[in-house]
Amino acid sequence: MSTAASQAFTVDDRAVEALGRRLNGLLLTAQSPEFEDATRLWNGLIRKTPELVVRPADTADVQAAVGFAHEHGLAVSVRGGGHNIAGTALAEGGLTVDMSQRRAVIVDPQARTAIVEPGCLLADVDRETQAHGLATPLGFISEVGVAGLTLGGGLGYLTRRFGWTVDNLLEVEIVTADGRTLEASRERNEDLFWAIRGAGANLGVVTSLTLRLHEVGPAVYGGLIAWPFERAREILEAYRSLTATAPRELAVWMNLLRAPAAPFVPEAWQGELVAAMAVCYSGDLGAAGEALAPIRALPDPVIELLAEQPYTQMQSYLDDGEPKGDHYYWRSDYAAGLSDELLETWRELAAECPIPRAQMGLLHLGGALNECDHDDGAVGNRDARFALGAIGIWDPDEAGADSFPQWIREAGDRFRPFSTGGSYINFQTDDEGADRVRAMYGRNFERLLEIKRRYDPDNLFRSNRNIDPARGGHR
Ligand SMILES: Cc1cc2nc3c(=O)[nH]c(=O)nc-3n(C[C@H](O)[C@H](O)[C@H](O)COP(=O)(O)OP(=O)(O)OC[C@H]3O[C@@H](n4cnc5c(N)ncnc54)[C@H](O)[C@@H]3O)c2cc1C
Repeated sequence: MSTAASQAFTVDDRAVEALGRRLNGLLLTAQSPEFEDATRLWNGLIRKTPELVVRPADTADVQAAVGFAHEHGLAVSVRGGGHNIAGTALAEGGLTVDMSQRRAVIVDPQARTAIVEPGCLLADVDRETQAHGLATPLGFISEVGVAGLTLGGGLGYLTRRFGWTVDNLLEVEIVTADGRTLEASRERNEDLFWAIRGAGANLGVVTSLTLRLHEVGPAVYGGLIAWPFERAREILEAYRSLTATAPRELAVWMNLLRAPAAPFVPEAWQGELVAAMAVCYSGDLGAAGEALAPIRALPDPVIELLAEQPYTQMQSYLDDGEPKGDHYYWRSDYAAGLSDELLETWRELAAECPIPRAQMGLLHLGGALNECDHDDGAVGNRDARFALGAIGIWDPDEAGADSFPQWIREAGDRFRPFSTGGSYINFQTDDEGADRVRAMYGRNFERLLEIKRRYDPDNLFRSNRNIDPARGGHR
């Protein structure tokens, strides 16, 4: 889990200086003023210290960095948004390619595509695509990186309509372990593209992503609504019913949690357990009333913030709940349905949870993603209809913090029996074993491993949820 910061230099100074001279961008070492910022992650629980950080100005810089790492035996990681909970953006003692300065987005409204640089956060892409009334499915927190999210799958409010984010990936430019720059799509380097769609972090450094766009917004209907936890059984059952018939334009994230001390929460409910829904209806606004009727039919909410609002606002609505630097620890699984036993387990876990800011989340996914074949990209999990997540969030100084990860692990054990057997690579913590990586890829794993070994025989890209740990560790 938390990795002590230590630095054992392995590369001689002259070689490092020579690399610096080759770059158009920046080379950072622990002595550089920017190093601290480049190596601070969203999850404050993880500290890792790469030997070198390259901030590339262009693809040639990425090639130079990969070639250097290969020559000197350093693992390579890529920092997109730096949000991965397992801290995989950083390579301990290795070389990190920090894309944070590469945040351009070029939208082609006629072709309905966006070319996205790999340092983009979700907000960068939503902002530019919404300028044309377009969007691609991205996640719930606008500060997450597009590259990491997409290359591992990607889910959010639009997933039910348009599939995993990676189902909307049309093309990438990627620098592979041998230093080549390749274009990969369904027509070019198809096997590589297949593997990138779900396991991208394992295959190389992606230097641009082209995403398909759809007409969305600019206004959607949604927000938060919550009821007292005493009514959790009734609300959970209503959630199951409404998700059984919901149109694809409606996505609802059900969450059992303590209401935050935020201005929009009545004082009496701040810190109290509630059964909450984060709701987004992204279809024709004239039909929003009908779509939301089953939610509106649940009487006496204690928080009710459902309204028409810009899609970009909806996409950043939940940002304050998951700030950078706090400690995070999760367990998650996919489920094909919500049985009585699962809902009761969910209610019990929320009632027992000792972590004040924890969230027990159920996210309805069923829709477009279920219609593709299981081997349409390495991402798989085409039987997932819900994502289940126990999300632990705390300040390290909080009483009992040392025991919180164990509570989350045990919660995960209690809902694992309801899993499809699949798992989302982007939600896995760094202490989940190789079996969990395999679980993500399921029947696609063997083909994926064969492609990985062809393109990265030395496992240069191992500082990730690694699919080939036999050829080098998890760092
Ligand atoms: C608060 C929060 C909310 C989240 N919400 C959602 C959500 O709604 N939906 C969802 O699907 N996921 C969500 N996630 C999970 C998220 O998808 C993953 O954490 C993802 O890895 C983050 O991408 P990043 O670029 O920020 O991560 P980073 O930590 O920068 O990178 C993650 C991994 O991707 C690799 N990588 C990054 N860029 C590249 C590249 N250009 N080329 C090759 N490999 C690369 C890195 O090497 C690393 O292994 C959330 C995470 C957080 C922390």
